[in-house]
Order: sequence, then structure tokens, then C-alpha cells
Amino acid sequence: MVTDLAAFAAERRVRYFMISYTDLFGGQRAKLVPAQAIAGMQEDGAGFAGFATWLDMTPADADVLAVPDPASVVQLPWKPEVAWVAANCTMNGEEVEQAPRNVLRKLVDDAAAQGLRVKTGVECEFFLLEADGSDISDVFDTAEKPCYDQQALMRRYDVISEICDYMLDLGWGPYQNDHEDANGQFEMNWDFADALVTADRHSFFKFMVKSVAEAHGLRATFMPKPLARLTGNGCHAHISVWDSKGKVNVFADADDELGLSAQGMAFLGGIIAHAQGMTALTNPVVNSYKRINAPVTASGATWAPNTVTWSGNNRTHMVRVPGPGRFELRLPDGAANPYLLQAAIIAAGLSGIATGADPGPRLDIDMYAEGHRVKDAPRLPLNLLDAIRAFEADKVLTGALGAGFSAAFAKLKRREWDSYMAHFSAWERATTLDI
Ligand code: ADP
Ligand code: MG
Ligand code: MG
Ligand code: MG
Ligand code: MG
Repeated sequence: MVTDLAAFAAERRVRYFMISYTDLFGGQRAKLVPAQAIAGMQEDGAGFAGFATWLDMTPADADVLAVPDPASVVQLPWKPEVAWVAANCTMNGEEVEQAPRNVLRKLVDDAAAQGLRVKTGVECEFFLLEADGSDISDVFDTAEKPCYDQQALMRRYDVISEICDYMLDLGWGPYQNDHEDANGQFEMNWDFADALVTADRHSFFKFMVKSVAEAHGLRATFMPKPLARLTGNGCHAHISVWDSKGKVNVFADADDELGLSAQGMAFLGGIIAHAQGMTALTNPVVNSYKRINAPVTASGATWAPNTVTWSGNNRTHMVRVPGPGRFELRLPDGAANPYLLQAAIIAAGLSGIATGADPGPRLDIDMYAEGHRVKDAPRLPLNLLDAIRAFEADKVLTGALGAGFSAAFAKLKRREWDSYMAHFSAWERATTLDI
């Protein structure tokens, strides 16, 4: 594990560091710092005007000092003279409570205080579009069911293999890459790890995919529903919880039918209980609600949930138990802030453990075809405003995430919703002009 960035620079011939933090909306903000200045920055942090980014601050506030966490440093595989490092935001000598990486670090500490380590893997789907973002870039990629399309995958071999090679070099343990369910859509999978490591990698992965795509004259997008007719970009999270040494999976129970322990069930119960409240974090933009609760797509299924339900190895529910000792949360989308996604999972899950929450009976039906028969299945929020309201109403969740963070997040998200509502759309004119 790297502890001294100046020594890292000397050893690896790094000339510049990107000191990077993630704001409330998931934007990655960085300063490019020459290696000669990194020792001081590692100590004191790099200065930012927080108000100029998506943090709930004023122009009069003191500098945010982003203090790099050397354990997270990554030498850019496509530009080795530069290294990226995730930073923790401080102000006036204290941690900034609303900063997403701090929110997650606090929850990781809460879990550790109970002798638990949450390990997760994320599946960050993305589209490769034309450079102007208007449509998919491969004009031959038109199949009705394009999932795993061999020919379309190989037409993007140069991009996908370049990214996968980088993940191999970085030691992330990538193990498969495929064409996904929408035309122009791909997914690349690497090994699960501690939640903070996964969040840093998730951030870096987005940066890397966008950078490599741009170098190939393309545009990568993680937007939840970039094309109305096609399946959207999910960001499923697979979750297991381990003992303090990270050696024993406490979710695993060989005697259980699905292989989930009582503790795993209680964690799942917490996710079910707080699903509506956490949707503002897992599905944080207006466009997110075009992916969940969506009509059938060109391929025949959205692969996204509509209800707060869980199942065995069945992809039509919000939670799937694909194998023993873990479960998959299928709710999150490509707009989820990598840190807040993990924080929401841990906050909801720990509350489930604390209360011995019962996830309720599992449903084994095809929810897309037969969901209407399940009368009492709770619905997911139908739009961002519903989600923000559900978030604000969930005091357990907002408390676990921290009052300062929760107030800041809800405030800026409400402003985003207001901005959307102020937008005058062609649809309203077309449907109302002749009323
Ligand atoms: P699928 O498409 O079937 O949902 P993928 O293979 O695309 O699954 O992704 C599975 C993710 O789950 C990967 O990131 C993998 O490392 C992760 N994973 C596997 N086992 C566990 C586990 N025990 N705990 C957490 N994550 C896991
Ligand atoms: Mg200046
Ligand atoms: Mg997958
Ligand atoms: Mg997928
Ligand atoms: Mg999945």
C-alpha cells in the first residue's frame, strides 16, 4: 500500500498528480499538481472553492482542502507520467461532513466498529456513442436482441481490450467483458473488494472509460437512459459482509436454501426497508426514472426493477440472490455517485442488522409479466421528486448518512428538480397547445 506520494513519484517517474474529489452530484474535480509539490499537498491538501462545485457551500466559505489518500493512488495506464489520487475534503481543519468520500468512510468505520467489512462489486454499464453524443457509434449494431453479440463486441475490440488491459495491469482482477442488452452498450467486470476500494475504482473506471473512448474518437456515457427506445445503464451492486479480517463471509450459510445467513437476511431486510429512501442516491437524476418503472424496451425487457421485491436467481426483482453468501441490488444506475451508492447500501444494511429486519417472503414470479398480481408490493419512487421526498422522510437513513450530508444533498437535488420543472418542453406544448 502506498503511503508516501513523493516516493511513489520518484519510483514510478510520475510528473503530475491529479488530486481528485467527488462532489455531491458525482462530478470528479481535480487539480493537477507537479510531483515537486506533492509532499506539501499530501500534508496540507489542495485548495478548492467548494461553492464552484456541487457542494452546499457559499462563495464566502473558506477553502475546501482536498487531502489525498495515498492508498488510492493510480498511475494512469494511458498516461503513466500522471497519477490520480482520491482525496478527502477538509475545511478549517475538520472533515467536510457532506463530502461523499467522507460519508462513505464514516459508514465503513461504523461497520468496522461492529467487526464487519462490507465487500462489493459494481457492474457499470455504459454506451459507446458518436463523439457528439447523438447516437450509438456502430451503425451495424442494430439487432433486436444485441446482448452478447459477438460481431458487435469485436467491432469495439480496440476500446474494450485497451480498458481491460489497463485493469489487468492495475491488478483489479477483470474477468469478462460483453456487449450488453442495448445496441452500443457494454459491460466490463472486475473483482469485488472493500466498499471504499470499489468506490474509488468505480470513480476511476468512469474516468478511464471516458478517456479511452475519447482517444478512439468516441463518447462513453453512463447516463441511466441515453436512448429512449433501448435498455438503460444499470450499475448493479453485489454485496457481501465479512468478518473484521475480511476472511470469513458472514453472509454465507451452507444450510440455508439460498446460502444466505440470518445476518445476510437482516442486511437485506434493511435494504428492503430503506429502498424507497435510498433511491435518491442510487438513482439520483431526472433521467434515472426513465430506466426504472420503464415500459418494455426494444430487446423485450428493461432489466430494471419497478418494485421493492426480492428473489432467488431471477432478474426481474430489485434484489436477486445469484449464489450463496451475497446478493445483487439491481436498482442503481450509471448516474449513482460511487461513494454515495456504497454509503447508502451500508447505512441501510447496518440498520437492518441492528433491528433484525425481515426482508419478507421472496417472490419467484416473473415480475415483468405477473407483477400486477402482487397487490401489496411497494413501488419504487416514480420520479426524482418522489425519491427526494422519500429520502427526507427516512430519518434512519438520513441519520446514518449524517445530518449535514443529508440536508446538503436534499437541498441541491431539490434545486435540480426545480430547474427541470422550469424547463419548458416540446411535449407540453404539443399536448396542450390546442386544449
Ligand atoms: P451479473 O451480470 O450476473 O449480475 P457480473 O459477473 O456481471 O454478474 O458481476 C458480478 C459482480 O459481483 C462482480 O463485480 C463480482 O466481483 C462481484 N461479486 C462476486 N462475488 C461477490 C461477493 N461475495 N461479494 C460481493 N461481490 C461479489
Ligand atoms: Mg485561482
Ligand atoms: Mg453483469
Ligand atoms: Mg449488465
Ligand atoms: Mg447484474
